Amino acid sequence: MPETPSKATSAEQGTVNENPSAEAPKEFHDPLLSCLLLITKLENTPCSETSLVAGLPLVDEKLTPELFVRAADRAGLQAKVVEKPLLDIPKVVLPATLLLKRNRAVILLSCDVEQGKATIIESKTGSEKTVAIDALKQAYSGYAIYTRAAYHLDQEIADTHIKEESKDHWFWSVMKSSWRIYRDVLLASLFINLFAIANPLFVMNVYDRVVPNNAVETLWVLAIGVLIVFLFDAMLKGLRGYFIEVAGKKSDIVLSSFLFERVMGSQYSERPQSVGAFTSQFREFDQVRNFYTTSTIAAFVDMPFVIIFLLLIFYVGGPLVWVPLAALPLILGYGFIMRKPIKAAIEQTYASGAQKNATLVESLVGLETVKSIGAEGLIQRIWEQSVGHLSLWSQKMRMLSLSVGIVSGTVTQVANIVIIIVGVYLIAERELTMGALIASVMLAGRVLAPIAQVATLLVTYDQTKTALDGLDQIVSKDQERNPRKPFVKRPSFNGAIKFKNVSFVYPGEEHAVLNNVSFEIKPGEKVGLIGRIGSGKSTIHKLILNLYKPTDGSILIDGIDTQQIDPSDLRRHIGYMPQDVVLFSGTVKTNIMYGSPHVEDENIINAADVSGVKEFVDGHPLGFDRPVGERGQALSGGQRQSVGMARAMLNDVPMYLFDEPTSGMDNTTESMVTSRLQESVKDKTLLLVTHKASLLTMVERLIVLDNGKIVADGPKDAVIEALQKGQLRVA
Ligand code: ATP
Ligand code: MG
Repeated sequence: MPETPSKATSAEQGTVNENPSAEAPKEFHDPLLSCLLLITKLENTPCSETSLVAGLPLVDEKLTPELFVRAADRAGLQAKVVEKPLLDIPKVVLPATLLLKRNRAVILLSCDVEQGKATIIESKTGSEKTVAIDALKQAYSGYAIYTRAAYHLDQEIADTHIKEESKDHWFWSVMKSSWRIYRDVLLASLFINLFAIANPLFVMNVYDRVVPNNAVETLWVLAIGVLIVFLFDAMLKGLRGYFIEVAGKKSDIVLSSFLFERVMGSQYSERPQSVGAFTSQFREFDQVRNFYTTSTIAAFVDMPFVIIFLLLIFYVGGPLVWVPLAALPLILGYGFIMRKPIKAAIEQTYASGAQKNATLVESLVGLETVKSIGAEGLIQRIWEQSVGHLSLWSQKMRMLSLSVGIVSGTVTQVANIVIIIVGVYLIAERELTMGALIASVMLAGRVLAPIAQVATLLVTYDQTKTALDGLDQIVSKDQERNPRKPFVKRPSFNGAIKFKNVSFVYPGEEHAVLNNVSFEIKPGEKVGLIGRIGSGKSTIHKLILNLYKPTDGSILIDGIDTQQIDPSDLRRHIGYMPQDVVLFSGTVKTNIMYGSPHVEDENIINAADVSGVKEFVDGHPLGFDRPVGERGQALSGGQRQSVGMARAMLNDVPMYLFDEPTSGMDNTTESMVTSRLQESVKDKTLLLVTHKASLLTMVERLIVLDNGKIVADGPKDAVIEALQKGQLRVA
């Protein structure tokens, strides 16, 4: 027994010492991510770090409790952040992650209140410890994250037994989550509609009771009453608007993040063909949300009151009720008839809007080329054509929609006149009072206004439906990650690459770019890939990166099919330098470290050194903080290429894929870069695509590709000799 306190104290110290300053300087530690990784192990769903956080908007490169929930979902775990005193955490939810003060976290395995001890796992060391509950309580922030294995039906069973419609729809399920707010909105609308009865009744009583008897006191009582009602009415209307906005904002944030995550997480091969058209489709989201939250709610909530108001007209005005009853189908009917032509106009407007945006984006991105080849006139014509088409159809659409508004407005006004005419006859026959007539006119307005609104909604419904369908398409794109098909966990690779009878056709094309390609590269082997333009060299790189799936055959890394490796794990272990390096706005340094935010400065300098970046940033006053401009336009072609190479060389990875790495460099830079590169990739796998003979010093083996087929594969010298003798049909 006497041992326990001292053990607990030392253990507690172990936990408390986990502050950043005590860490070894180059170790980056994300306590929540470490906890999640440990939990995935405990729950038997081990995952790699990269696969859990790939694509998540990390804050300071670390998980936040909210992001923890999203990352856990990747591992097939359901997580929930709760505020709970330590001793109230139920045993069944253990192991749970405890958020400690000063941004630390531990996993709580068990808690023995009688002994005053708790067993935890430290996030940093991953080791189990027993600590005193009191000490843990002191460090505990009051928040914990519960996790449990989410129940996933087997994919096939799910597909056969769950109908498409009954699966949770991304849009509706988020809307459903705000149902409490919408319930309050409905309640507020109920009262607002009831209050609307006050005004006609007030006027009717003033005409029928107050005026004939000059009952001033009654007038004041009625007036005060009706004013109070108006006050509440105003308040409720404000509240209702506020609620709708709150619900809208909430779903806006959730849905926008969801949509963007789907876009980022979709298979590269599924990417939109036209960026401009896609952005305009993406923007429609606002309209969809608006339609389903604000306008529709207001209109449909008012609908049931139409019946109440009709009954009320019948009560005060008797046969007058026939007038709004007759006007009603006229307004709705016109809206219905107009639906079809308006729908056609909407579709045309959408298509030409997307076209217009596509032209705008493409010509702005390629403005330099447009100007240098003198294509302004052509672009201008394409632009004017799409603008002309767009304005023609959007004008048609607006005119048609406007006509719906005009018809309902006119019908409403005519109905008013008819009520008055019929009313006057009824008054003459003493079947109606003057007050009742005025009240009926006012009430008829209340009946026809929401009907007119519904007629307009009928029209915008199609517009929204088109937009929602477009968004559905975005959401339903094949994703790289499917929680129901977990990937093989693979913490490291040796760098063996194998193509087994790979054939490949680009999506939407007919012609095969690769035809039954097979080769095997051993770990550490340096291979050159040569061939004429368009022979499929870059395509091989893209297939290794799993940006595309092979149409036939398989690609194995260390004997595992790339389809079974988490794409972010795979790409993290490959240093890839594409043929066209794309930079993002920012500095040279941010561009090098994109994708590896918590890399050490030492690595950056190293990579910059190898790739020749150091030479050109050293000569600039801002050094590594030199801005590169949008898409790297402020750098020269060769400099961009250097930065691209530095990116590839940043991390110590087992495989390097270089696509024409020095095509934009002068001979001096090239030979310098080549010799440095050679040193850096000494014991790594290298697959180098090149047209330059000078670069072949880096490789020992050559694969020659022609028209998607391998025509030669062997030791460099033998292949070159054969090529020179013209033994191979390559050139
Ligand atoms: P180069 O030496 O010019 O870089 P390459 O050998 O790298 O040529 P790839 O880029 O692999 O050639 O292209 C091979 C073939 O695939 C070409 O005929 C090209 O037209 C086609 N291709 C490349 N990318 C796509 C794409 N995204 N969609 C459709 N076809 C494509
Ligand atoms: Mg290429």
